[in-house]
Amino acid sequence: MKYISTRGGAAPQSFCDILLGGLAPDGGLYLPESYPQVSGTELAEWRELPYPALALRILQKYIDDIPACDLKTLVDRTYTERTYRWCRPGRDASDITPLTTLAPGLHLLELSNGPTLAFKDMAMQLLGNLFEYVLEQRGEAINILGATSGDTGSAAEYAMRGKQGVRVFMLSPEGKMSAFQRAQMYSLQDENIINIAIRGMFDDCQDIVKAVSNDADFKSRYKISAVNSINWARVLAQVVYYFKGYFAATRSNEEQVSFCVPSGNFGNICAGHVARMMGLPIARLVLATNENDVLNEFFRTGIYRPRGAADTYVTSSPSMDISKASNFERFVFDLVGRDPAVVREFWASVDAGGSFDLNGSPYMAQLPVFRFISGKSTHVDRLATIREVWQTYQVMIDTHTADAVKVARENTVPCDQMVVLETAQPVKFAETIQEALGCEPSRPQELEGIEALPQRVVVMDADARAVMDLIAASC
Ligand SMILES: *Cc1c(COP(=O)(O)O)cnc(C)c1O
Repeated sequence: MKYISTRGGAAPQSFCDILLGGLAPDGGLYLPESYPQVSGTELAEWRELPYPALALRILQKYIDDIPACDLKTLVDRTYTERTYRWCRPGRDASDITPLTTLAPGLHLLELSNGPTLAFKDMAMQLLGNLFEYVLEQRGEAINILGATSGDTGSAAEYAMRGKQGVRVFMLSPEGKMSAFQRAQMYSLQDENIINIAIRGMFDDCQDIVKAVSNDADFKSRYKISAVNSINWARVLAQVVYYFKGYFAATRSNEEQVSFCVPSGNFGNICAGHVARMMGLPIARLVLATNENDVLNEFFRTGIYRPRGAADTYVTSSPSMDISKASNFERFVFDLVGRDPAVVREFWASVDAGGSFDLNGSPYMAQLPVFRFISGKSTHVDRLATIREVWQTYQVMIDTHTADAVKVARENTVPCDQMVVLETAQPVKFAETIQEALGCEPSRPQELEGIEALPQRVVVMDADARAVMDLIAASC
């Protein structure tokens, strides 16, 4: 299996070659040159498989440059009951992604039972093991530099802690994260994890990452890398739970399932699109946004109009606060019949701060073929949904999942099975839960009191030079 760029200007690469990189050299995103198909026989066999075995079957269709036995070891090490142990009471942690049925035809797929209580662990944990393996094979080492306002940074740290050949420098704005988020990250004692609290805002952290990455000499000398959301391996790892969710919500492969996905960078739902392209019987992919509704606008009007950072709302489902959706280009590549010239034309406009419009093009008529539906949820909707789900089903959901439940309910059709992807645990957004329910969400017992653990963090001014000196001194 070779990987090609959505902009058509890169030589086809193997999986391990694209694993450690980000964008393709032509600025595009990597995708497999074709989607491997799943036969009816395979689907029937896969229905019975435990999560790691299912993951291995799917990954093997995309990865042909890691020997099967090694890949099996990596996958078995990733998807363990121990890593994903923080499931709801009464659920089976060995399912890895247990399904909770709220009402006939309405289910939650729990994806946030990993170490940082958000779905990003599902893919990031695999990435950590793949990175370590490939770096060891090549006798290389990398330094991952990132900026976080909470979720992604902690998922990356828990995935990379203790990994040979990987060091993580994670910038976060001093005093801007919750005490729980700070404790999650700063209490890690692993030597390869270096937390840097910047006296400034998240944007200052991001500017430092950009400044360091723009220094080509420094970047290559210190092998600076990233674990961003456009990494193909992250999308691939997420394909697996669509299959798992499908099997959990159905009895036979004659049935169809719809998925509702709380979306920001379009990474999670892109994996659903890939699963459907492989032949999984998905009826509809329902995309839910918060107040930042660039994607909802696209699926309703055919116009993709990313906002500037200044026009991005800060909301109570913060992991969906995006101005442009970094994985969206992958879907558009398929939508336009995989014509890289069209993608180049669209993104010439997007990258210059503009937009594109499918109206009047033949692609507008193609859009319904992919069976996406979308909707939007606001703070008021979020609070109401959290409250209603709690009162009706005694199930507490987080703010992102609430956005999806709201949009899912607006879009149910009779006899449909709707699986809502649950992307975080409520304890991560305790303030909004308190606002909705008047009580504190409970947290896994093992995480009680983590705020009191000793913390390892370096506090620095927002100065790229100083961060570079620290990286140099640590290597
Ligand atoms: C990252 C994240 C999302 C959005 O996922 P995308 O892949 O960026 O669309 C939704 N919910 C939570 C809790 C997240 O952390």
